Amino acid sequence: MSDSRTNGDSFDIIVVGAGIAGAGIAWELAATARVALVEREDQPGYHTTGRSAAVYLKGYGTEVIRDLTVLSEAFLARPPADFSEVPLIHPRGALTLVRPDQMEKLDRYLARQRRHVPHVEQLDPKAILDMVPALDPAYATAAVYDGEARDLDVDAIFQGFLRGFRQRGGKLITTAEVEALEHGDGRWHVSTAQGTLHAPVVVNASGAWADQLAALAGLAPLGMVPKRRTALIVRPPDGLEVSGWPCVDDIDEQFYFRPEAGKLLCSPADTTPSEPCDAQPEELDIAIAIDRIEKALPLGIRRVERSWAGLRTFVADGSPVVGFDPRAEGFFWLAGQGGYGIQTSPALSHLAAQLAARLELGEKEQEIAAALRPDRFLG
Ligand SMILES: Cc1cc2nc3c(=O)[nH]c(=O)nc-3n(C[C@H](O)[C@H](O)[C@H](O)COP(=O)(O)OP(=O)(O)OC[C@H]3O[C@@H](n4cnc5c(N)ncnc54)[C@H](O)[C@@H]3O)c2cc1C
Repeated sequence: MSDSRTNGDSFDIIVVGAGIAGAGIAWELAATARVALVEREDQPGYHTTGRSAAVYLKGYGTEVIRDLTVLSEAFLARPPADFSEVPLIHPRGALTLVRPDQMEKLDRYLARQRRHVPHVEQLDPKAILDMVPALDPAYATAAVYDGEARDLDVDAIFQGFLRGFRQRGGKLITTAEVEALEHGDGRWHVSTAQGTLHAPVVVNASGAWADQLAALAGLAPLGMVPKRRTALIVRPPDGLEVSGWPCVDDIDEQFYFRPEAGKLLCSPADTTPSEPCDAQPEELDIAIAIDRIEKALPLGIRRVERSWAGLRTFVADGSPVVGFDPRAEGFFWLAGQGGYGIQTSPALSHLAAQLAARLELGEKEQEIAAALRPDRFLG
């Protein structure tokens, strides 16, 4: 055994990646274990977590995502004492527009929404235009309204996890890219840019890089596909008050927009496959966003104040990958959260921590955990 192994820091669990996934599970685990949270960048949350659209939608994603979103609601509405000084969610509402040529999709969409969001209602043109008067009436023929959609305060949730993690004695190590993973003597030896750490369990919460981190451990990929999504901020015309508008998308998820501090956050809802990287917005995607949104909301948008892009990482069935990898002792996946990693973070962090600590699960959690197992992709 090398000197670096004998002198390096030892933990019960090493979590790789300080985005919302890593921060959430690290916070949970630090209540009872010695945990290191290791991040390549000098700032936690620099990648996808810092780039989201910050919306909570119960009727979004796969069935298991919807379960996790609903299960996260109580935490988001009433977080533990000292978790945050500000509310984690704010009322918003979400309006899904249905043009006349999309009407045949409406009944199926409503039926699926109502399974997780029983209160969704179908709105008539007058009700739609009362909510968003600037819409083109051709887009306001039918819509589905979810009054329980919320804005998320992503920074408050993320900082709550990180602060609580540190208070529980957890160690956050930044500028510490994991460069090698080796298993021996019943422990993982994790070589980082800041030295080598040791623990029997490694949690792979490395977002778009999850397959690459697994490769360092000698594991074949599970098929993570990072997909770029673009967002931009535009200023509405003078005198147009948008702050009370709901989040608006269309039934084919071709675009969305929502109020953001008196302006509009817009997206073309792009899903372009990408290598793991520091994603940047493409001019073409910005132009597509403006074109699609102008058709529904003719505001004469001329100037984009700010734009960014982030990677939403998916596996083939669109649900996260959570659990121990049967191919490597103590290697735990927490990846593939797609476009739902913030809104599911309380319930997913809790479930993942119970699995990583090998604790007993309740009946509903067992059902969810079965749908997330990494071995569903192993032949
Ligand atoms: C435009 C956009 C809109 C979105 N809107 C929403 C929304 O409205 N609601 C919602 O719930 N979700 C939304 N999402 C999705 C959400 O942001 C993600 O699901 C979530 O942030 C993923 O978190 P993560 O921790 O897995 O990834 P990340 O935040 O990317 O964290 C992974 C971390 O791992 C680190 N890392 C990688 N490799 C290594 C290594 N070898 N060593 C050390 N560190 C490493 C990276 O540096 C990174 O910091 C949106 C995403 C985008 C891009």
